[in-house]
Amino acid sequence: MEFVYLLLGSNEGDRQQWLRDAVQEIVTHCGRVRNLSSLYETAAWGLEDQPDFLNLVMRIETNLAPQTLLESIQAIEQRLGRQRQLKWGQRTLDIDILFYGKEIIQNESLKVPHPYLQDRKFTLLPLQEIAPQWVHPVLKETITTLLQVCQDKLQVQNIGKLEFTKGGTV
Ligand code: ATP
Ligand code: CA
Ligand code: CA
Repeated sequence: MEFVYLLLGSNEGDRQQWLRDAVQEIVTHCGRVRNLSSLYETAAWGLEDQPDFLNLVMRIETNLAPQTLLESIQAIEQRLGRQRQLKWGQRTLDIDILFYGKEIIQNESLKVPHPYLQDRKFTLLPLQEIAPQWVHPVLKETITTLLQVCQDKLQVQNIGKLEFTKGGTV
């Protein structure tokens, strides 16, 4: 059993619905949800023809080994994204593994901690909300410190919690 932080993102169609569906799929296939951040909207600066991104970070407890977890989240991306690929020809959903406990993984298909998390405010802000004191196992700094030194200038806004129709919890 391991604690894992996942980043979910969508920038097309009904973004909240993609994220809601993804959370449900993760619960079904990957493990129990321990924390769910608010939704964060990132203006697609310099790419004005692109819709804004919605992101959230979740902490789950999983029994899946890292590579199996990667396969599982890729299957979820495909299941949810496929509908949209046919309709719009674009990806609706992205799921990245940010941390797998304190493990450091560097292979062809999987790099954990996620190599760019410290460079991206849209990742650090939701992470800080649910894990401010979590220490990055390679950089040896807390999420709060990483956010303080992050140079990313993109504006990221907390727009509140993802709402679930049936009573709210996952
Ligand atoms: P970025 O990783 O910069 O956010 P992206 O999410 O758009 O880019 P994708 O096209 O979704 O990139 O993924 C490309 C590949 O990254 C995947 O096929 C997967 O094998 C690999 N990968 C490596 N490390 C990770 C990780 N920590 N989480 C998810 N995928 C990863
Ligand atoms: Ca990504
Ligand atoms: Ca990805």
